[in-house]
Amino acid sequence: MLDLSELLKELQDSTLRAVQERAKTEALFASMGEGAIATDENGVIYRINKTALNILGLTEKQALGKWFPDVVMAVTHENKTIPLIDRPITRAFLSGRTISERIYYRTKKNPRLPVFATVSPILQEGKPIGAIETFRDITQEHKVDRMKSEFISIASHQLRTPLSAINTYSRMLYDGYAGDLSGAQRDFMKVILSSIDRMNELITTFLDISRIETGQLQINSSSIDYNEIISTISHEFAQVAAAKKISLRTDLPRAPLQVTADPLLLTEVFSNLLSNAIKYTPQKGTVQVTLAKRNKNILLKISDTGYGIPKESQAGVFSKFFRASNIMQKETFGTGLGLYMVKLIATGMGGKVWFVSRENVGSTFYFSIPVSNNNDGLPAQMDEFLQQQ
Ligand code: ADP
Repeated sequence: MLDLSELLKELQDSTLRAVQERAKTEALFASMGEGAIATDENGVIYRINKTALNILGLTEKQALGKWFPDVVMAVTHENKTIPLIDRPITRAFLSGRTISERIYYRTKKNPRLPVFATVSPILQEGKPIGAIETFRDITQEHKVDRMKSEFISIASHQLRTPLSAINTYSRMLYDGYAGDLSGAQRDFMKVILSSIDRMNELITTFLDISRIETGQLQINSSSIDYNEIISTISHEFAQVAAAKKISLRTDLPRAPLQVTADPLLLTEVFSNLLSNAIKYTPQKGTVQVTLAKRNKNILLKISDTGYGIPKESQAGVFSKFFRASNIMQKETFGTGLGLYMVKLIATGMGGKVWFVSRENVGSTFYFSIPVSNNNDGLPAQMDEFLQQQ
């Protein structure tokens, strides 16, 4: 028999527990140092804390009951509205996963306020029934990042001049302009010259990256033969591959493959991917380059039978200064900047870069761009990638 008073007591207890839990959540929400907004499954705001109101310059009345994307406007670096489909809140709803990224909000006081936002969907039986967005103002971090990029750019420029003199005079010494060198002296000079080349490469990479990060990269698209670029660069790398007894194979379409793109940037992307494939493949391995048209895109594929990238390292591959643990002892020279730059350029060109890799088996990097591509300047996708870094 059911005991009514026991049931009633149970009901009272669980109501009390629910009220206490709610009060705790309220307190947590209100006291958070970050802006916090809760929305229902339709993206309508039902709770917003003081920090969020302060950052956005809104009153509670202006926010509650309103559609989140209407209240919180997200914009790109160039101050263009981010389409709804690309906003973190939409992506969190669609994927059912937490999305974190740097983004700009248009607020009362600031038309482009940099924030770091995290949107977590609230799931019930796998379906989103709402979302919580937290965000903080990162104006200061942004300033420091920019100053860092500018500093690297200035320092690199300053290093170029003395390095160029060192290079010229070292080459003259090596070529015997100041008298004949002994065998040992020539050997030492060779080491000096190759270190100068590396330093020059480093400076060029630093300059390229700081130019891209500070929005100074110009994309000069024209109609070019993609085939020709790939075969020229592959040819240039033939010797490097041969020195390691690596078989470098190319599979290119017979007819010219016209594409509207920036030839210098294509070269930069391909050189980086190919030099990595050769660098991270041991002696007697194989590197295969394939170029093919796939519908409206051209797909470049670079496969190697190299060291591969361990699973746990794969998520970081396109991040700045990233080098996987398995290659640290094998290849001491590397900056971890090549793929970061490749990703920046690829997204800037309206293309995509990705890879599949298995440790000790090999890696395949893919780079795809639309056949017809008229990007001038920095498109939104690159901006988005920069914001996620
Ligand atoms: P770097 O080559 O200067 O270290 P990158 O940005 O070009 O920098 O590459 C980042 C890291 O990704 C490398 O250090 C390496 O760990 C890994 N990597 C890139 N390409 C390959 C490849 N083809 N095979 C194995 N590992 C690779």
